[in-house]
Amino acid sequence: MEAAHVEHAGINLKPSARLHEESPAEAPMEVGKTVGNIEVEDPIFRCRDVDVYYGEKHAIKKVGVDIGKNQVLAMIGPSGCGKSTFLRCLNRMNDTVPNARVVGSIVLDGKDIHDKKQDVVQLRARVGMVFQKPNPFPKSIYENVAYGPRIHGLAGDRVELDEIVHNSLQRAGLWEEVKDRLAQPGTSLSGGQQQRLCIARTIAVNPEVILMDEPCSALDPIATARIEDLMEELRQSYAIVIVTHSMQQAARVSQRTAYFHLGDLIEVGETDRIFTNPRHKLTEDYITGRFG
Ligand code: ADP
Repeated sequence: MEAAHVEHAGINLKPSARLHEESPAEAPMEVGKTVGNIEVEDPIFRCRDVDVYYGEKHAIKKVGVDIGKNQVLAMIGPSGCGKSTFLRCLNRMNDTVPNARVVGSIVLDGKDIHDKKQDVVQLRARVGMVFQKPNPFPKSIYENVAYGPRIHGLAGDRVELDEIVHNSLQRAGLWEEVKDRLAQPGTSLSGGQQQRLCIARTIAVNPEVILMDEPCSALDPIATARIEDLMEELRQSYAIVIVTHSMQQAARVSQRTAYFHLGDLIEVGETDRIFTNPRHKLTEDYITGRFG
């Protein structure tokens, strides 16, 4: 079927000719059952029936989705719909939130991350996280990147550590800008550079997955574009999950998109398809700006 072709800020947002209008059987209007394909071949993460409660509040409900290797999954939806909550499940950051209770199956590379034998520090090295506001340690640029490899014993000597720091900064696209000032504080860098430093710090411990919680929302458009370019490079080596409030950003950086609404995962699928041909009415309302 032909996709609609109206461009708005780089995304096709035409609210007509959607699949759901022509295939109502495929388009349940009720929430509670995710529309689209939650599975991918050979996933790095397989999440099923994930519920999160904050005390009495049921923040996410029976969420099931796979996260593919070497691709970016964007999570979009109105504020408060549970995107960050779900992201924080993936490296057990909700363990640190008082009152939070996570139920369900979250399997990383064949093993449930809630297994008693799972070391949470190791998990967070495998599944690194980049936050909304760049948060370098109050240490030098070098030490920000060297810290993780040192505590995880990844370098045998100083030469190896120097190499890890160099490679990580290089891969984060920051080396040329900082190679002559490695001893200066990480906080002396610009916001965009600090965010790339945080990415270098994350990749220094050889993660498999990088979680990003609105990583560009504190950055200007040029710094944002650099991070987005970097994501395209990084996905060659890692799986990336990004929470973004920007649909344009989701459309630019991701291969798959997941739309959340009031704690339900409403729809998931290939990004191009979600933005040109959403199957669920709630997804369509959101991406056409009727809700949000
Ligand atoms: P999003 O990332 O989509 O904006 P969140 O995951 O931050 O949504 O929040 C989902 C729901 O859970 C919201 O209703 C929010 O108020 C609630 N929530 C988030 N964090 C906490 C917390 N630490 N304690 C209690 N409720 C929380």
